[in-house]
Amino acid sequence: MTKAATIIPITLPTPFDVGPVNCCLLKGDAVTLIDSGPRTDEAREILLALLKENGLSFKDLDQYICTHYHPDHAGLSYEVQQAGTQTLMLKEAVPYVSGDSDFIKWTESFYTNLYSSFGVPDSLGKLELLKLRKYRTFTTPFTPDLKPLSGESVPGHEGFIFLKTPGHAPDHLSLYHEEHGVFIGGDVLLPHISSNALLEPPAIHKAERPKTLLQYRETLQTLLSLNLKTVYPGHGKPFANAHELIHKRFQDQNDRAKVIENLLSGEPLTVFELCVRLFPKLYEKQLGLVVSEVAGHLDLLQAEGRITKAEEEGLYYFSQTGVVR
Ligand SMILES: [Zn+2]
Repeated sequence: MTKAATIIPITLPTPFDVGPVNCCLLKGDAVTLIDSGPRTDEAREILLALLKENGLSFKDLDQYICTHYHPDHAGLSYEVQQAGTQTLMLKEAVPYVSGDSDFIKWTESFYTNLYSSFGVPDSLGKLELLKLRKYRTFTTPFTPDLKPLSGESVPGHEGFIFLKTPGHAPDHLSLYHEEHGVFIGGDVLLPHISSNALLEPPAIHKAERPKTLLQYRETLQTLLSLNLKTVYPGHGKPFANAHELIHKRFQDQNDRAKVIENLLSGEPLTVFELCVRLFPKLYEKQLGLVVSEVAGHLDLLQAEGRITKAEEEGLYYFSQTGVVR
């Protein structure tokens, strides 16, 4: 007999700027844990205690689904899997979660080259790599047991399907129940902050950098065609006004693109110069986020033919289209 789905939210502390993360228990014919929080003693203790309140431990779960590889969501995946629970993620997640040393080296050289072409000072670029290494320590490498496809049904939860929702992360996976209008959306759409379309190394060596903001906008466009009554986000409270929020996110992106386009009406600028002008207080502390934000909007402006990119001695300079230097 099919049981109606029950969603039990689980909020766990993280040591990151984003604050607490939401995981959840999905109970239907199967009992599924979605996301597991960072690998910290505090998060593990709270997660185990909340499972216990529901008469469960890691080994009693029928399956574990991880929305994306970021350590605030995937940190305890390995431990859940070690308890014998089937672990599901998109196939795109594999290089990011497997801890493959070649891929880690590739990631670091990717950022080093990218930052240098963006005009980021060496010292700041190196600091960012150190932060990335530290960030990685909040998760244990693992390999997912199953890699569902977008559109496939979620086992044990009738009506729910998997949806590939890239942009914030290349491997982002969401769960959607069309009839009930339920969307378990990880970091795709957050109520209180805009999801950053983080720059990520492509999974395949030497392939071109993915245009993550453009991917993210495609995902948002797809979401507009869905029945979104209730969104369970990875951070913040569940919310109802998803379509309205998506329109606001588009508007904010368009406004920011306009500001950047105007900044490029004078002399050509590098990504880093734009970061300093747009985020004078934030760029040093959160360089990765700021660079992603600026580069993403430059991708958008370029795709719309509003700016052009020129290379000079390994540095990229951007100018408004039609402005003669
Ligand atoms: Zn994330």
